[in-house]
Amino acid sequence: METVRVGLGERSYDILIGPGLLGRAGGLIGPYLPRPFAAIVTDETVAGIHLEPLRAALAAEGIASEAVILPPGEATKSMANVTLVVERLLGLKVERDDLVIALGGGVIGDLAGFAAAILRRGVGFVQVPTTLLAQVDSSVGGKTGVNSPHGKNLIGAFHQPRLVLADIDILATLPPREFLAGYAEVVKYGLLGDAAFFDWLEAHGSALRDGDTLARLHAVRRSCEMKADIVARDEHERGDRALLNLGHTFGHALEAATGYSARLLHGEGVAIGMALAFEVSARMGLCAQEAPSRVAAHLAAMGMKHRLADIPGDLPDAEGLIALMGQDKKVRQGRLTFILVRGIGQAFVTREADMAVVRAVLGEGL
Ligand code: NAD
Ligand code: ZN
Repeated sequence: METVRVGLGERSYDILIGPGLLGRAGGLIGPYLPRPFAAIVTDETVAGIHLEPLRAALAAEGIASEAVILPPGEATKSMANVTLVVERLLGLKVERDDLVIALGGGVIGDLAGFAAAILRRGVGFVQVPTTLLAQVDSSVGGKTGVNSPHGKNLIGAFHQPRLVLADIDILATLPPREFLAGYAEVVKYGLLGDAAFFDWLEAHGSALRDGDTLARLHAVRRSCEMKADIVARDEHERGDRALLNLGHTFGHALEAATGYSARLLHGEGVAIGMALAFEVSARMGLCAQEAPSRVAAHLAAMGMKHRLADIPGDLPDAEGLIALMGQDKKVRQGRLTFILVRGIGQAFVTREADMAVVRAVLGEGL
């Protein structure tokens, strides 16, 4: 088992990463509980596979548990479900010092974390991320929340977990498409700030994809280290934390264009978005053409979508996509924020992207 510490003063916490952690959950979570009880929030799919093992591991240490089970999918991340979860937790007599365990992907982590943030003005919570995306990204850093009809993630709070348990074995039951979508966020860390990690991913990506536990462990650990470091420097995204949005200005527009449907998963939009950000950077003369070529080659070698043309169905034209980017919540004074690059591992935040280049790259579809 490896430990990554998120350094936030009194609110610092550990991310425990390793195989077999779910079976040890009682011993690992027990010390954080003031009484032997925990409430678990999860979704139906995850509950069907991993809830009983978690409850058994808690029971083995004498910890009683109750579960709130929601339907799977992005549509679950709603205010209506926050109300439902909060009322169920109150009905279960969850007290101020109790912990809520979020067992699931980013949807469950974001929703349960937000419910914990507002329940009794804030109870603690533990993240047990079950998707690769959640292990390397959404379970770390304290952004919690739900979607509004006005847009994604528009309602929420910063609420850091007390502990994150990332069990590498849990990823074995994840559908391959979901795994690769999460892998896009792993690649993101290499591309935004660690060229040596990207080199390592080029060499070990296929082993990692095909189930190699040690490779998965290394990738999750390095990703968590980078996220923990950025979050410790800039918890509330006043500066460097925005680097984590590499590929996301484009990606969010593509998700909006496809109606947040199964046509395009979040991580798939991010992969295509990163390829676009590198291409725009090269055409603006910020980095050598070799960089976008390497990025596209790696995504292609992994069997991932990396071009606009890889998205099934029709898309809006370049102007339409730029208009969708304008709806992102990171727009300030009408200017789009882009994360561009000076090379692999050298991302920076800018409001000065050359929109003629952006338009041209989107128009060609790569
Ligand atoms: P998800 O939670 O919807 O999980 C994807 C699917 O996989 C679901 O159908 C789920 O039931 C299933 N699943 C989960 N774990 C499984 C397992 N081990 N075996 C089999 N099936 C499993 O999606 P996600 O990609 O994990 O998360 C996406 C969400 O995360 C989005 O809402 C996004 O906004 C959010 N997010 C938040 C942050 C943050 O900082 N808070 C960062 C990135 C993304
Ligand atoms: Zn993302």
